[in-house]
Amino acid sequence: MAKIEAADAAALPGLAQEAAQAGLTLAWAEAAADRPSAEALSSFAAIWHPADEALASSWARAAEAMEAPLPDDVADAAKRHTRRQRKRDKARRAPAGSPLVDAWLGSPVLLRVRCEACGRDACHEVGTALFDPSEAVTDAATLHLGVYVPFILACPFCDAEDDYSLSISSAQEIATRAAAAARMRRDFPVRVGKAGLADGTAIRRPSEGLRILRARAEEQGGGERWRALGNFALRAGRADEALEAFERGAEDPAELACALAVAAEALGREDGEPGPLVARAVSRVPLAEEKWRPQLCAEVAEALRKLLPRTEKPLRLRMVGRRGAATVDVRAIKDWARLGELLAISVEASLTFDDVPAAELDRAAGVL
Ligand SMILES: [Zn+2]
Repeated sequence: MAKIEAADAAALPGLAQEAAQAGLTLAWAEAAADRPSAEALSSFAAIWHPADEALASSWARAAEAMEAPLPDDVADAAKRHTRRQRKRDKARRAPAGSPLVDAWLGSPVLLRVRCEACGRDACHEVGTALFDPSEAVTDAATLHLGVYVPFILACPFCDAEDDYSLSISSAQEIATRAAAAARMRRDFPVRVGKAGLADGTAIRRPSEGLRILRARAEEQGGGERWRALGNFALRAGRADEALEAFERGAEDPAELACALAVAAEALGREDGEPGPLVARAVSRVPLAEEKWRPQLCAEVAEALRKLLPRTEKPLRLRMVGRRGAATVDVRAIKDWARLGELLAISVEASLTFDDVPAAELDRAAGVL
């Protein structure tokens, strides 16, 4: 290192190979860019490989100083390096939050709205909102066009839904908060974003999204479409409509997520018989999408745990894995996280309520 630092322009090219072997190419490249020579430029060519963008950047600097041509791929790599550097600098410059600003950006939003149906004013507190500055926002009066509130707001006087105009002050607050959150590059309840369905269909209000998704589910059916409707309804604050959609979706024999949502809802109620609903979810474990599998199976394990105090019946869980099958007594399970992992690698799973002689229960219960 010291040798490189001390070397003059004439000596540097001779040190290139040595520096490369010692893992000091970058130190050498920077020295060569500071004290360039024609020989140094050819040494760059000897030690550079296309993935080394930092070296390309020093090479570009040396070539520029020597007014020498630079190979195209080196120039491209150097440009990539500069772009990345700029991005890093920008991230470093992100303003640190102050507790006061954090509290302001983290607080729920108080919306002042006027009902379009009855003309009366009301206030709604909402947890999140989006602001899309690319909308036709030209002045304070059109700011509201960029605002999206993901909850369906009902007028407290006439029950009209999602039929309101936002006050200028509320629109201004949301736009300001979204801009501040974007500057801080952190997640806050109010942020810059575009309102739309998963497929990119733009929507102005959540009731519009619900209408579109409901029509799609009713016309085309399929667990996935009912699930999309259920999830959207949940976010819009429509728990009843969400449950209805999940129930319809759970009728699809290939649908685990909806069956799980219905079972979880039944487990959350005090009355009713959640056992069969949990059993239905368990039987669909093998259908879990690869991407969501660990999470869904952890939720199935959680549903089984919550089922315990809800029934006196025996609970037998049979899991078939690639290396064999096991039947376990759910009441003997202690490691629920491990159960989720075992479910995630099962190719078949079932929950039954019949008593099985203890001898038939597998030792697999021992690892749980
Ligand atoms: Zn009203």
